[in-house]
Amino acid sequence: MAKTIQAIRGMNDCLPTQSPLWQKLENAVKSVVSAYGYNEVRMPIVEETSLFSRAVGEETDVVSKEMYTFEDRNGDSLTLRPEGTAGCVRACIQNNLINRDEQRLWYMGPMFRYERPQKGRYRQFHQCGVEVFGLNGPDVDAELIMMTARLWRELGINEHVRLELNSIGSLEDRASYRTALVAFLEQHVDVLDDDCKRRMHTNPLRVLDTKNPDVQAILGDAPRLSEYLGEESKAHFAGLCELLDAAGIEYTVNERLVRGLDYYNRTVFEWITESLGAQGTVCGGGRYDGLVEQLGGKDTPAVGFAMGLERLVLMLETLELNDVRRSVDVYMVTAGEGTMMAGMKLAEQLREQVPGLRVMSHFGGGNFKKQFKRADKAGAAVALVLGENEVADNTVVLKDLIGGTQETYSQAEVVTKLVELV
Ligand code: ATP
Ligand code: MG
Repeated sequence: MAKTIQAIRGMNDCLPTQSPLWQKLENAVKSVVSAYGYNEVRMPIVEETSLFSRAVGEETDVVSKEMYTFEDRNGDSLTLRPEGTAGCVRACIQNNLINRDEQRLWYMGPMFRYERPQKGRYRQFHQCGVEVFGLNGPDVDAELIMMTARLWRELGINEHVRLELNSIGSLEDRASYRTALVAFLEQHVDVLDDDCKRRMHTNPLRVLDTKNPDVQAILGDAPRLSEYLGEESKAHFAGLCELLDAAGIEYTVNERLVRGLDYYNRTVFEWITESLGAQGTVCGGGRYDGLVEQLGGKDTPAVGFAMGLERLVLMLETLELNDVRRSVDVYMVTAGEGTMMAGMKLAEQLREQVPGLRVMSHFGGGNFKKQFKRADKAGAAVALVLGENEVADNTVVLKDLIGGTQETYSQAEVVTKLVELV
């Protein structure tokens, strides 16, 4: 036998047994974003590499170690998108969507990062992202958080996620904080690991979200970002907190929350769960007022978030909220001369007369017993049985596969019975 080919490590198939749960999640996401009037945007999966190095930042983990970058046939450096914000901003600028107008957008799709695959962390994973352009008040930040809270309620996981919030101020606020932080870190170089030492010069704020417990211990005494926030940043953050309080959304302010990507300013937030172990962040976002201009557009305020769909699917499974509707309602069973064709015709009629009814036809022959087994396996609620007699007098036998009873109906009559299944 020929050697079988495997999928790329960290890139998974979504199998037919798993796709119903994915669809349930995706449908919930779509219904929530549309309840706030947001519009879908679809971007290419591949972009010019420089888009990500400029937007996300050279010194971030994503750009420095996680990108799938390659040269295409004419030597251009391209990258499989590791996140959606950069491409979304590029699309808005290129298509002139945000010159004068505000935009409230969402997207969903695969992202690629070369990371060590483990539970909740993959090389191809899926995000749903939401981005708003042209609005600078804390009201829209609050709306995004309320939107995610609504999704958690819709999915039934609201008791299992908590919100962490912070303000990282403006570029100027951070510049003065950065000086103070670097001075502090320099006094503690002996405790810093190599990663932190490198970040201390390239991206010192990132030292704040180190996972190294020894470094964490000294950070308790580090200068606090909140003390370096200017009046405007402070007022913006207070405004957001007030709106969240009014909406009854609980949060904790985590002063060490800085987020991994360079483009953030002011509001940053994460939704975290304890039910997944180490990969606990299911959604992260914040404001990125400078990014549009940085990528060549007009100065435009912006805010957004992205959530990891694999982690949400894992949560739904872990919390046993993975009960999904079966995929077939009716299984069409036929045996005898001319019944197969009659069965397919009846199935077509039913699909037309009962919108939403899912009818699967049996193919490949076999006796009734074998066909009923298939009907059970397909998860159908009822089987419709057509033998030669039924075809001759335009009737059909409806067998309730759960209760076990069966009854004969005229083919016109059976429609009213099947409506109940939808
Ligand atoms: P983490 O700290 O877990 O690496 P991140 O800060 O790199 O997350 P973001 O860039 O903010 O993640 O992406 C938003 C969300 O996308 C994350 O909160 C997470 O739910 C999901 N996500 C990020 N990377 C992966 C991955 N490799 N596999 C699966 N989901 C991911
Ligand atoms: Mg990461």
